[in-house]
Amino acid sequence: MDYFLTEEQLMIRDLARQIAQEKIVPVRQELDEHNRFPHEIIKAMAQADLLGIYIPEEYGGLGKGSLDFYIAIEEISKACLGVSTTYAANALGSYPLLLFGSSEQKKKYLPDIAAGRKLVAFGLTEANAGSDASGIQTTARLEGSEYVVNGTKQWITNGGEADVYTIIAITDRAKGPRGASAFVVEKGTPGFTFGKKENKMGIRASCTTELIFNDCRIPKENLIAKQGMGFIVAMKTLDSSRAGVGAQGVGVAQGAIDEAIKFAKQRIQFGQPVTSFQAVQHMLADMQTMTEAARSLVYAVARMIDGGAKDISRPSAMAKLFATDTAMKVTTDAVQVMGGSGYMKEYPVEKMMRDAKILQIYEGTNQIQRNVIGLDMIKEATRAK
Ligand SMILES: Cc1cc2nc3c(=O)[nH]c(=O)nc-3n(C[C@H](O)[C@H](O)[C@H](O)COP(=O)(O)OP(=O)(O)OC[C@H]3O[C@@H](n4cnc5c(N)ncnc54)[C@H](O)[C@@H]3O)c2cc1C
Repeated sequence: MDYFLTEEQLMIRDLARQIAQEKIVPVRQELDEHNRFPHEIIKAMAQADLLGIYIPEEYGGLGKGSLDFYIAIEEISKACLGVSTTYAANALGSYPLLLFGSSEQKKKYLPDIAAGRKLVAFGLTEANAGSDASGIQTTARLEGSEYVVNGTKQWITNGGEADVYTIIAITDRAKGPRGASAFVVEKGTPGFTFGKKENKMGIRASCTTELIFNDCRIPKENLIAKQGMGFIVAMKTLDSSRAGVGAQGVGVAQGAIDEAIKFAKQRIQFGQPVTSFQAVQHMLADMQTMTEAARSLVYAVARMIDGGAKDISRPSAMAKLFATDTAMKVTTDAVQVMGGSGYMKEYPVEKMMRDAKILQIYEGTNQIQRNVIGLDMIKEATRAK
């Protein structure tokens, strides 16, 4: 389908595709097997300016929109969702600074992030606060000119590898939803260490780690936005990043379809390629139709964001929900189209299927996306009365 991408968007797509083919495909299995962080690939992506696509030019980025960024995410995800998780989580960690940072904070951090000299992570989740972010226990207490941070963040993508961390901590529990604040914390700050590194089902090229704050003192200038705005920063950050998770879904689904077709065309059973059976053709047709529908939704939401739409919460949730449910279904069906071979590690679709599962879980499970969409629909219907 023709999405009428601009010349520049096509260039970004081709560049990301080239890096995916040359740098990621040859090593993705090894990264997956050994749980290895893709340092060299991130370096190559940084050299190609792919890390600063969405960062304004005044801070050293390319100053492009969400659609340009999602096109790059899609291409990287086609090759390896582990690498693309590292890449997309870097943006997730940057959004609090980009959306709410002071001009000093932007000048201090964004140029290094845009150039790929510094990686970023976003720390919201804790052992007792997953879907229910209001349950976070990490605290930040103002003492003179410093905040003292205590607590543990769990399952943080890029944890340990990132240099910059945007985190949410409780500053005044009595204030309820207004009692949390967002902060930026640099790796190497005394009292900030890393705990357990997770051994995961999929996206094993990405690292997922605990962040431990033990009387970690940060200057009060590290507060992002105003004290008490932590949950607003977190929710707006997730609104901005969720359609990007949808783009990951589109990428891995397309990657799985491409692999399944390639295999099925040359797999002979009953004296003919299995693609000659209508049952297989119908599976492929459904897989591609769903993926195209997901791509259309993700691109439409990206164009809304780039067009300056004010409330992107519902459309972003829809794009994440539909594209990631599609990714799970399509990668599972790709294994089916390939039969036993699809189940073997010699072919990349078993990894794609394992990888795809996380897309229905992180950045808000798909149950939570349905809650966001449903509640917004009801709110709208109530307003219209
Ligand atoms: C690999 C990986 C990387 C991650 N990276 C990051 C990161 O970089 N930064 C970060 O902050 N977090 C990160 N997370 C955390 C992730 O966002 C959470 O895992 C996710 O939000 C779900 O929380 P939970 O796992 O605690 O599930 P739970 O909240 O315990 O949910 C368990 C089940 O209950 C359902 N459920 C819960 N509440 C409701 C409800 N109200 N209505 C309907 N169903 C409900 C859920 O959908 C789910 O099926 C990561 C997680 C993983 C696994």
